Amino acid sequence: MTKWDAAMRQALSVARQAGQHGDVPIGALVMDADGALVAVGGNERELTGDPTAHAEVLALRRAAAIRGSWRLDDCTLVATLEPCTMCAGAAVLARVERIVFGAYDPKAGAVASLFDVVRDPRLNHRPEVTGGVLADQCGRLIREFFGSIARGDVSEWPMELASKASVGQPTEGSNPSVTARRA
Ligand SMILES: [Zn+2]
Repeated sequence: MTKWDAAMRQALSVARQAGQHGDVPIGALVMDADGALVAVGGNERELTGDPTAHAEVLALRRAAAIRGSWRLDDCTLVATLEPCTMCAGAAVLARVERIVFGAYDPKAGAVASLFDVVRDPRLNHRPEVTGGVLADQCGRLIREFFGSIARGDVSEWPMELASKASVGQPTEGSNPSVTARRA
């Protein structure tokens, strides 16, 4: 149990909704300093045909719109999968206080696994990072999604994407400064 489990469960339910429209089931949300939900986002890349429609970017955009400011400096971004370079960059630009994620993404993760673009000492804003919250559940949801493609249940997805289903485990060389709390 971590203090972020309840938030991650909410992000997981957003992720499941993304899977229902054929998108990789990844969900994100933005919480304020009191732990109140500000906005959610699910992966909509397939739904909208927008390469930037990642869950985290959508959640950050909506949170900024709701609060009337791009600056989300008392907020926490929670995502079911370790953010990619774009989303990690967006989180820094939004000045979020903290990034919490579920499954590690050794192929594209940009806050611990493959890169760490949020805690470079040359940046003047560096969010805290907590990884591995309900990692097994978050990773399993994605693996099951790609598994159903491999079985032909989701026919529009190319088979080679099933190889992406390895997410969920921290890799050798994961940044040791990440607070890894394995679920
Ligand atoms: Zn992303």
